[in-house]
Amino acid sequence: MTELGKRSVMYLPGVGPKKAEVLLKEAGIASFEDLLYYFPYKYIDRSRFYTVDSITGDMPYIQLKGRILSFETLGEGRARRLVARFTDGTGTLDLVWFKGIAYAKEKYRTGREYIVFGKPTEFGHTCNIAHPDVDPVEQAGQVAGGLTPFYNTTEKMKKMFLNSRAIQNLQYTLLNLIKWEVPETLPAGVLQRSQALSLPEAVRNIHFPESAAKLRMAQFRLKFEELFFIQLHILRTAAYRKQKLRGLTCPTVGSHFNTFYRDYLPFDLTDAQKRVVREIRADMGSERQMNRLLQGDVGSGKTLVALLSMLLAIDNKYQACMMAPTEILANQHYATVMNFLGDMDITVALLTGSTRKKDRDRILPAIAAGETDIVIGTHALIEGTVVFASLGLAIIDEQHRFGVEQRARLWQKNEHAPHVLVMTATPIPRTLAMTLYGDLDVSVIDQLPPGRKPVMTMHRYDNKKKELYQFLRREIRSGRQAYVVYPMIEESEKLDYKNLEEGFEVFREVFPEYTVCMVHGRMKAAEKDAEMQKFISGEADILLATTVIEVGVNVPNASVMIIESAERFGLSQLHQLRGRVGRGSDQSYCVLVSSYKLSAETRKRLEIMVQTNNGFEIAEEDLRMRGHGDLEGTRQSGVGVDLKIANLGTDGQILQYARDVAGEILASDPDLSLPEHDPLRRRLEALFSHKINWGRIS
Ligand code: ADP
Ligand code: MG
Repeated sequence: MTELGKRSVMYLPGVGPKKAEVLLKEAGIASFEDLLYYFPYKYIDRSRFYTVDSITGDMPYIQLKGRILSFETLGEGRARRLVARFTDGTGTLDLVWFKGIAYAKEKYRTGREYIVFGKPTEFGHTCNIAHPDVDPVEQAGQVAGGLTPFYNTTEKMKKMFLNSRAIQNLQYTLLNLIKWEVPETLPAGVLQRSQALSLPEAVRNIHFPESAAKLRMAQFRLKFEELFFIQLHILRTAAYRKQKLRGLTCPTVGSHFNTFYRDYLPFDLTDAQKRVVREIRADMGSERQMNRLLQGDVGSGKTLVALLSMLLAIDNKYQACMMAPTEILANQHYATVMNFLGDMDITVALLTGSTRKKDRDRILPAIAAGETDIVIGTHALIEGTVVFASLGLAIIDEQHRFGVEQRARLWQKNEHAPHVLVMTATPIPRTLAMTLYGDLDVSVIDQLPPGRKPVMTMHRYDNKKKELYQFLRREIRSGRQAYVVYPMIEESEKLDYKNLEEGFEVFREVFPEYTVCMVHGRMKAAEKDAEMQKFISGEADILLATTVIEVGVNVPNASVMIIESAERFGLSQLHQLRGRVGRGSDQSYCVLVSSYKLSAETRKRLEIMVQTNNGFEIAEEDLRMRGHGDLEGTRQSGVGVDLKIANLGTDGQILQYARDVAGEILASDPDLSLPEHDPLRRRLEALFSHKINWGRIS
C-alpha cells in the first residue's frame, strides 16, 4: 500500500491519540490500512422495515420507522434509565437507555420522524429496545442502505465510544479521504482470469455493500487475496529451499536398517507403511532436503515408520532426533524405540525437562561427540545447549503444537539443514494442512494394521450409570481392562480433581473385587509411573485418569474407554482417547458419558463420534463446526492461520484456486522479477518480512 496506508490511525479525523491506543490494543489496528482490513463479521439487512404490532421478543435485529411520543426518566442508581415511548401508528414500544441518558435526551426530539434499529426484548406484554440506533429519516440513505455491517468490538472499545457503528463511521471517513486511491495488489492478469473486483471496489463493498451480489464478489476477492499471498509465500519458500538447500544425502540402505527389518520387526509392515517408507527413502536418498508431513490416523503405526527413517540416517553415519510435544509422549517413544531395537547396537538418549543435571552432563557431550545415534525428547531438544555432531534427520511428532519457528530452531545451529519429517497425532483437514504445512510434501498412512476391529462407540447419559457398570463388569470378567477418563481443564482444575477423586472412590466401591488405579498430572513422576505400570502389567483392571493418557499408553488388552463429561472434550481429543482401545484383537468399546442437557453443537459432536471411526472425516467435521480459529494451536502455529476473512472450514475451493494461481505464476517467474510482478513482491515483503528467515527453515 502507499505511504498513506501506513499512516497511523491516530490521524484519521475522529480518532486521536486516546482512541488510537484502544484500537491498537483491542483490535490490533495501527494504520489506515489495518483499519481498512478490519472487516465486518456480519451484515444485517436494513432494507426492510417492521411494524410495531408484528414484533416479538425472539426477533433478531429489526428496523422501524416512526416518532417518539414522550420521554421519561425512571429508577434510581443503577436502574436509572431513560424511556422513550415510540410509535409507528400500529402500536407503541419503549426505547430504553441506561447509559448516555443526558446525551440521548439532548439529541432526540418528540414529533420528529426517526429510523430506529436494534434488538427487541419482550417485557411483560410489550417489547422494548435497549440502546437502539436512532437516525432522522432524512439520513436514511446513509444508515439504511440495505446491508449494514457489524464489526467486532470489545468492552474497552465501547467505553471509548468505539462501538460497531462508530467503526462503520470511521470506515466511511477513511474511504472518502481525498487523495487516497487504495492501490491494487494483484496483477491485472490474475484479476481478469478470476473475474475479481479491483481492490478499491472490493474494500468499498465489504464495508458498504451496494447489493448482496456485490458483497459476495467483494468477499470472494478479499478471501482469494488473503489465501493467495499465503500460498505464494509458502510455495516460493519451498521452491527456494529446494533449489538452494542441499540435503544431506542418505543413499545407503545399510546394516542397521536391514538387520532391523529382517530380524527385529515383530510383524509385517502394512502396504501403506511400506509405501510411505519408500517415499521417505527416495527423499533422503536424493540431494534435496526432505520436508515431509506424515499423516495417519491414531494407531496406524507412525512410530515404526519414524524408527525406520532414523535407522536410514544412522546407516549413512548421521544422528537422528525425535521431538514430542509432552514429556509423557517422549517417555513413551523412548520406551517403544528401546523395545523395538532390543539388543541392537544403537545408542539412544532421552532428554526432557526433567532429565537430571547429572545425566544431562553425560548426555550432552555424547550427542556433541556423535556417540549418540538417536535422541528422543521434548522442547528440551531445541535449547541452545544441545549440539549435534551431525544431525541428519529431525522427526517432530506433534499435535499442532510446534510452530514453524520452533521447528526451525531445531537445526538452525546445524551447518546443513537435516531432513525433516513432521508427524501429526491425528489427521488434519486438507485446507488446514495446505496452510499450516503447505510447504511440506505429504505422505499418508491410510490403513490400519491387520486384525483391528473398529471400536464400537456409544453415547450414554450420566443418569444411566448402573447399566454402564454392569457392562463394564462383564468386560472385566472376561479378562479385559478399562480406562475411565475425566476432563481436566485449567480454569476449573480444583473441581476436576474433585470429580476424579470422587470417581475413584465410587469405582472402588462398585468394583471391590477388582483393582482400580489412578493417574493425574499432579502426581510425582515416580508415583505416576508406578500406577501406570500396574495397569500395563495387568495387575490393575481399571485405570482412572485425566487426559494425561491421551497421547500415552499402549495397552492392547484394554478394550473399554469410558469418557466422563464427554461434552467437555473437543472432537480430535475424543478421537485420540478412543484410539487408546481397539489395539488388540478383541472387540473394543468407547462410551461417551454426558449430562442430559446438551447444546445442539455438542450433541452433533457426540453423534459424529458414534457414527464414524475415520479420523480424516472427524477432522473435516471439526473444522466445519468450529472454524479454524478455535482449533488447538493454530493461532500460534506460524504462518497464515490468523485469517481475517477466509474460513478454512468453508473456503476450500477458493484456497485450492489461490494455490493453483500462485503455482502458475511462480512456474513462469520463480523470482517474481518480471515488472508486472513488482506489486506481488512488494506485498509479500510487507506481509511476511517480520517472519523468520525462511530460507533456513523446514
Ligand atoms: P500411531 O500412528 O498412532 O502413532 P503407533 O505407532 O503407536 O500408532 O502404532 C500403534 C500400534 O500398532 C503399536 O502397538 C504398534 O506396535 C502397532 N503396529 C504398528 N505397525 C504395525 C503393523 N504393521 N502390524 C501390526 N501392528 C503394528
Ligand atoms: Mg503416535
